[in-house]
Amino acid sequence: MKKAFIILGLFIGGIAACTSTKTGETTLEVAPETATVRYQCPMKCQGDTAYTTAGKCPVCKMDLKEVKAE
Ligand SMILES: [Zn+2]
Repeated sequence: MKKAFIILGLFIGGIAACTSTKTGETTLEVAPETATVRYQCPMKCQGDTAYTTAGKCPVCKMDLKEVKAE
């Protein structure tokens, strides 16, 4: 019986590891409007949503563009 639980645990753990590494690549932190430097999709896929770090747009995969607050 114990063995089944271990296998199940490994199985669930494997899935969790897979999904976490998958999202880890594209994890972007949404920047508050008060942030001095924000990164935004040039196509504005997500409207005014901007991120704290450079990366790729989760919608169109384009490189995010630096947006400076005025
Ligand atoms: Zn986009």
